[in-house]
Amino acid sequence: MLDYVDLEADLSSEEKLIRDTAREFVADKVAPDIGEHYEAGTFPTELIPEMGEMGFFAPNLEGYGSPNVSETAYGLLMQELEACDSGLRSMASVQGALVMYPIHAFGSEAQKEEWLPKLGSGEAVGCFGLTEPEHGSNPSAMETHAERDADGYVLNGAKTWITNSPISDVAVVWARDRSSEDEPVRGFLVETDRDGISTNKIDEKFSLRASITGEIGLNDVRIPEENVLPEVSGMKGPLSCLTQARYGIAWGAVGAARNCFETARQYALDREQFGGPIARFQLQQDKLAEMATQITLAQLLAHRLADLKEAGDLRPQHVSMAKRNNVRMARNQARIAREMLGGNGITADYSPMRHMANLETVYTYEGTHDIHTLILGQDLTGIAAYEA
Ligand SMILES: Cc1cc2nc3c(=O)[nH]c(=O)nc-3n(C[C@H](O)[C@H](O)[C@H](O)COP(=O)(O)OP(=O)(O)OC[C@H]3O[C@@H](n4cnc5c(N)ncnc54)[C@H](O)[C@@H]3O)c2cc1C
Repeated sequence: MLDYVDLEADLSSEEKLIRDTAREFVADKVAPDIGEHYEAGTFPTELIPEMGEMGFFAPNLEGYGSPNVSETAYGLLMQELEACDSGLRSMASVQGALVMYPIHAFGSEAQKEEWLPKLGSGEAVGCFGLTEPEHGSNPSAMETHAERDADGYVLNGAKTWITNSPISDVAVVWARDRSSEDEPVRGFLVETDRDGISTNKIDEKFSLRASITGEIGLNDVRIPEENVLPEVSGMKGPLSCLTQARYGIAWGAVGAARNCFETARQYALDREQFGGPIARFQLQQDKLAEMATQITLAQLLAHRLADLKEAGDLRPQHVSMAKRNNVRMARNQARIAREMLGGNGITADYSPMRHMANLETVYTYEGTHDIHTLILGQDLTGIAAYEA
């Protein structure tokens, strides 16, 4: 696998073991059928408990059954999952960074004890409800709201584009608390079997097809007071979860690009035109050289992010730069790999076109490329340019 500047030399034996175990799991259990799942628009849900058993869900957290692995090990894991399919990495990112993380960081002791072991083992599935039909890039304008009543809260509103909502046992729903002054955004744990909640599946997707996406409808959904995440109030709640998930995406995108590179390189060596392998043509070598260089630069950024995170020095803006750069890189390289495969490149027999389509979602979710540009622009100039 492409590791041009020998980053392997800096890995601990535990990190190598975690990476290799994930690589083997993907090769044996997921890769053989991922093309079929993609075509059918399904996720191999039977593997969720196995993914839990393998420690794929938030292994970088401490306690409640999580092994607290290094941030590099966590990143390498995301890289191996996304080398197979962005839908597989999305499953792990949502369950770990967007559901377990907020419960771990902002939940009560009872919430942690109830949910973290079940989510970590894959016995339960969770989803993260922030985006709304009318509010995507600007979630702070959300309309979903909670009102206090005698027993707890009543939730009303609609969320859309929610990964895993149709198969979730619990949703972390972000809503405005209308009973408090200033109506702060708060996190609510909503079990999906409560009256008034619906989780319709969104079927018409051309991207991230091997991932289940849905809506969350909330119509007078009653939840008890103890389902509110007590330790956070305001947009820093959901935004801090997104920083965790974007960290995993910055690593994962490198995996998708690496898989495209490996596929294109092998194809160029095998495919013969004009009396020999197409890899002998300088035009093809230029593409491979550029791909390898861009992937290597993205790998370096991801590894540096891990060091900053481990030291407690990682800023959300660092993560924005890496998400923005690495996903754009992967999206571009997937297209070039597809091109190198000629007509075969548009078939389900090869991964680059699937990665290419998936990366359209990855480019858009967890903050679009444009929004990360604005985050960096604000950090570099001190001027926010979100509103005209
Ligand atoms: C498959 C999939 C899974 C998803 N999973 C989840 C999930 O699990 N949970 C969840 O909460 N959300 C999820 N999302 C939603 C995702 O985060 C949003 O799609 C994303 O935030 C963009 O919002 P939007 O689609 O409403 O686009 P919009 O915000 O309407 O943006 C449209 C375009 O306008 C641009 N734009 C917006 N504002 C500005 C500005 N100020 N300056 C310049 N350009 C701007 C954007 O960059 C974009 O190109 C998912 C999305 C997809 C596609």
